[in-house]
Amino acid sequence: MTAHIIDGQALAMQLRSRVAGHVARLKEKHGLTPGLAVVLVGDDPASELYVRNKRRQTIEAGMTSVEHKLPTETSQADLLALIEQLNCNPEIHGILVQLPLPKHLNANLVIDAIDPAKDVDGFHISNVGLLGTGQDAMVPCTPLGCLMLLRGHLGDLAGLEAVIVGRSNIVGKPMAQLLLNESCTVTIAHSRTRDLATICRRADILVAAVGRPEMIPGDWIKAGATVIDVGINRIVRGGKRQLAGDVDFSSAAGIAGAITPVPGGVGPMTIACLLANTVTACCRSHALPPPDGLTL
Ligand code: NDP
Repeated sequence: MTAHIIDGQALAMQLRSRVAGHVARLKEKHGLTPGLAVVLVGDDPASELYVRNKRRQTIEAGMTSVEHKLPTETSQADLLALIEQLNCNPEIHGILVQLPLPKHLNANLVIDAIDPAKDVDGFHISNVGLLGTGQDAMVPCTPLGCLMLLRGHLGDLAGLEAVIVGRSNIVGKPMAQLLLNESCTVTIAHSRTRDLATICRRADILVAAVGRPEMIPGDWIKAGATVIDVGINRIVRGGKRQLAGDVDFSSAAGIAGAITPVPGGVGPMTIACLLANTVTACCRSHALPPPDGLTL
């Protein structure tokens, strides 16, 4: 079997075009321009690249992009003061603090300072609680993108056996919650899981969010399963730098029914979902109905 390649780039392009359409209508009908503020502390090159990409795509979608680049030695009090200022700014509908933060800053306190209505990353405990109780929440962008890819490929997910490898607050746990809300039977695996291979082999849906290059080989995958590879790992192969997922793509593609590539799978959906969440936040803040096709 050769797996169907789930084209995240193409799906993300469709989503961004829906976002741009909604932005144009918000401007025309309501005189509103959704605004996203991104806060970057320090000079981590990978974070700088993500922030540049987010900014470019925000502007391309017709939204306002505001960037706050702060020095590494920024104090907790100064960062919290900036967040309070953004919370109060009516032209800003979404606030994203790029993680990881320098070690002297407390990420939990920073995230909890963001107005939950502007928390387009969906990391605030209010949004975590809303998602956990099946209510309207800001859904974290990466798992939201994964769910859109899964729905696009499989349609109804009810009753399917889903295994998520990784239990981070950013990917693994919210992914599990979303799949539970879709009525999947969900298993979350992690570094202390016993016999990971056997657990992975029972998955109709396998989501890998580990951060270890090509850790999951093809023979851990059930024939015909749908594999979502969240991992983004920088490796050197044949003297060349390249990106690799958490799944060994070449062996997995021979047995899975469908698989996301790295790059070009989950990554592009993450930024597209950030834009979608910002439009949703803008609509909610003006008591407008949530736009079709941007949220769950
Ligand atoms: P974390 O490091 O926060 O979490 C990794 C998880 O993997 C942990 O739960 C850990 O278990 C588990 N784990 C580590 N080693 C093993 C192992 N040998 N067997 C089973 N489980 C293991 O990572 P993130 O969730 O933030 O990110 C995961 C990957 O996804 C990374 O490659 C990251 O770059 C990528 N990513 C991609 C995004 C995208 O847009 N495509 C967005 C966000 C992340 P334990 O809890 O026991 O330590």
